[in-house]
Amino acid sequence: MTDFTYAVDADGVATITWDVKAKSMNVMSTDAFALLSDLIDQALADAGVKGIILTSGKKDFAGGMDLNVIAQMRAGGAKAIFDGVMTMHSVLRKIERAGMDPKTLKGGKPIVAALPGTALGIGLELPLSCHRIIAADNPKAKIGLPEIMVGIFPGAGGTTRLVRKMGAMMAAPFLLEGKLSDPKSAKAAGLIDEVVAPEELLTRAKDWILSAKDADHVKPWDAKGYKMPGGTPYHPAGFMTFVGASAMVMGKTMGVYPAAKALLAAVYEGALVPLDTALKIEARHFTSVLMNPSSTAMIRSLFINKEALEKGANRPKVADQSVKKLGVIGAGMMGAGIAYVSANAGIEVVLIDSTQEAADRGKAHSEGLLDKGIQRRKVTAEKKAEVLARITATTDYTALSGCDLIVEAVFEDPKVKAEVTAKVEAVVGTDCIFATNTSTLPISGLAKASQRPTNFIGIHFFSPVDKMALVEIIRGKETGDTAVAKALDFVRQIRKTPIVVNDARFFYANRCIIPYINEGIRMVAEGVEPALIENAAKLVGMPLGPLQLVDETSIDLGVKIAKATKAAMGDAYPDGAVDAVLFWMADQGRMGKKSNSGFYAYDATGKREGLWDGLDAHYPIADTQPDLTTVQHRLLMAQVLEAVRALEDGVLTDIREGDVGAILGWGFAPWSGGPFGWLDIIGAARAVEICDQLTATQGDRFTAPQMLRDMAATGRVFYPDTGEAQAA
Ligand code: NAD
Repeated sequence: MTDFTYAVDADGVATITWDVKAKSMNVMSTDAFALLSDLIDQALADAGVKGIILTSGKKDFAGGMDLNVIAQMRAGGAKAIFDGVMTMHSVLRKIERAGMDPKTLKGGKPIVAALPGTALGIGLELPLSCHRIIAADNPKAKIGLPEIMVGIFPGAGGTTRLVRKMGAMMAAPFLLEGKLSDPKSAKAAGLIDEVVAPEELLTRAKDWILSAKDADHVKPWDAKGYKMPGGTPYHPAGFMTFVGASAMVMGKTMGVYPAAKALLAAVYEGALVPLDTALKIEARHFTSVLMNPSSTAMIRSLFINKEALEKGANRPKVADQSVKKLGVIGAGMMGAGIAYVSANAGIEVVLIDSTQEAADRGKAHSEGLLDKGIQRRKVTAEKKAEVLARITATTDYTALSGCDLIVEAVFEDPKVKAEVTAKVEAVVGTDCIFATNTSTLPISGLAKASQRPTNFIGIHFFSPVDKMALVEIIRGKETGDTAVAKALDFVRQIRKTPIVVNDARFFYANRCIIPYINEGIRMVAEGVEPALIENAAKLVGMPLGPLQLVDETSIDLGVKIAKATKAAMGDAYPDGAVDAVLFWMADQGRMGKKSNSGFYAYDATGKREGLWDGLDAHYPIADTQPDLTTVQHRLLMAQVLEAVRALEDGVLTDIREGDVGAILGWGFAPWSGGPFGWLDIIGAARAVEICDQLTATQGDRFTAPQMLRDMAATGRVFYPDTGEAQAA
């Protein structure tokens, strides 16, 4: 174990350097923590050592705790987690006390954290226990505590120390939202103490140690008369902070995220007691969060499996297929967005539309986004010029010569798409991969227009392209491995998360979203109170209720999809009740957000005001309303059963993709880790029971898939351990 090395210079300053050899970024493991503890002991015991610098041998300080370690900690149960966390606290507290006499606060050694770059999670909690945090002025560095984003909270003293350092109000965005800052902003916010030129980092740390007085290395909360900034909950101002924070957290999370609640409890209870007790309280809440299946599920999907998919877990073994020159056909909403994210990632783009004006408009979309970036100081004028220079907007197909990937985003019309395919293939090389961004048309059907169906694939983006992280890659019947690898390498270049699915109506994401929307609309037809439908969805962690979602995507698109689906399915079409509502809304001209009127009412500026009060004139509210849980089960099962069927049908081949895709693609209750994560949390037996109840009252669309019945019978789960998927 050489994650930390130790050296003492001639002036008696010890330097402990963190450098995990096998990784490009330092992450903390249990063994490394024990080694760090030993090295601190060694320095504190050595009379020749005046102080300690804690730094990194890499360009960054640390990326955080190895989340796989957290997954392993769980295996030992609550007691093992609590004991493990308390051991960590004792080491960090040892650093903080640095050998001083706890009564006189004298005799300690100054310990400085010198951060060359990014410091996240434990990579900031460790510095927070030091006496000074000095960071190199590295604008690319990110400093913060992002734990909440994966369903846990800073549990190595970060929560307790940050609140004591900044006050609950100032610490809130860093703890509750996982806000990350560059070093200068971190210094301005009070997260760190000093920012210096990178080449001065270690000399400045050493100077500080050599000139430090006893009082400099006593933490404010260990000194007499310490008062928490902003006040404790006993103080009137502090009390208001906590009331406001509770309301804000409940408003934002609807109470479904255990980590946010536990974090607030740890902060509130911790603020009432001395630091050592507060750390114990933090450890208790942290343990309960780690034991909650939601945190396991969130870490699994939002961190471990998301990263595995981004690194190419399902990439065919084919040589690198990075895109050099991309052609985008159709410069509308989607094409313009695809051109922007690609040019932004350094790819040369030819953006084609049928008129020069439309092509220019598509390019102007990039300009608009870059200008917004400049306003927010995220983009420089040079960067804007560089990105725009990479986009050639034209009507001339010969400009596509030399492209190695084409993404077609013209109208959703097979005829138009077929024409475009032929025109493109006439000018590009035979190796060029052709991708369609269709949202509904089967890829294998569209591939019929191609001379080279092995090079033909679906790359389905979500709107708005610059914001949505998921890209669904669809393998047609004849799509070859090189095309899949090309699509995956392209998605990696534009820094999004891919899933690869097989070809079927609506692929994966839309296949699950449509039944969710339809279930909501079906309830409107039944006379269920629309507010109950929408709130039930939000209270179970869906970001948008089904009625808001259809307003956002537009009622006319819903009508179009319904008509096409009915035409394809004939008598087997099950959604007549849904169509009655949808078609009636369209007849009223209420097309959703874009027409400023839909299931919701909007003001003249397009701001959503509330549910439309004219709906009940046509669809009266029933006297008897279903209970909240029934509405939630209907809304969740509508999506989840479709995900299971997609797995049974072989559209999905990896449940990790099903879960990550659901969260990133349509916001499926992230606390649950995705549809398969949710099924594991409630158990297949309970899921089948819910299905049977719903089938009896609502009909066959809730029939439990055979896979679930088999799992219920055998007790099998989708994720038998914490990370890896079990083969379906
Ligand atoms: P859009 O109407 O905004 O843009 C289509 C563009 O294609 C227009 O600019 C049009 O002028 C251009 N075009 C039409 N025929 C052309 C031709 N023969 N040659 C060159 N350009 C041509 O549509 P959109 O919303 O950007 O959708 C494009 C595609 O993406 C569709 O297949 C759609 O189903 C799919 N899609 C849309 C969304 C969405 O949310 N809008 C999401 C995923 C996928």
